[in-house]
Amino acid sequence: MAQENLRVQQSPTLKEKFPKLKTLTVELSHYDPTGVSRSSQVKQTVNVAFAKSVFRVACHNQECVRGDFDLSPKLAAAVAKKKPSIVGEMCCQGWRNRATIDIEPCKNILRYKLTLGY
Ligand SMILES: [Zn+2]
Repeated sequence: MAQENLRVQQSPTLKEKFPKLKTLTVELSHYDPTGVSRSSQVKQTVNVAFAKSVFRVACHNQECVRGDFDLSPKLAAAVAKKKPSIVGEMCCQGWRNRATIDIEPCKNILRYKLTLGY
């Protein structure tokens, strides 16, 4: 995990990486693997001048091993096509807990909406 944090720290800011991008709003909803019960929902405006371009969201399963959501490729693809917004969902690729490594994947679901201004 320390290496991942380093990768985030060393990445350029959003403004450096995507000069065209002026504003970014992120809406995130965390769901359990069934996709039915929602554990949290957040909406935040990202400061593109300071936010790092490696854009990771932690999995809400406290026990999750090696899981999180990397929205960086989605964001890069959206900016490349100058899309005003994208929505989608991702499935956590980590393990449910330490006892189930290699047995039971976490599969928590993150639903996201990114609103982009240029
Ligand atoms: Zn997870």
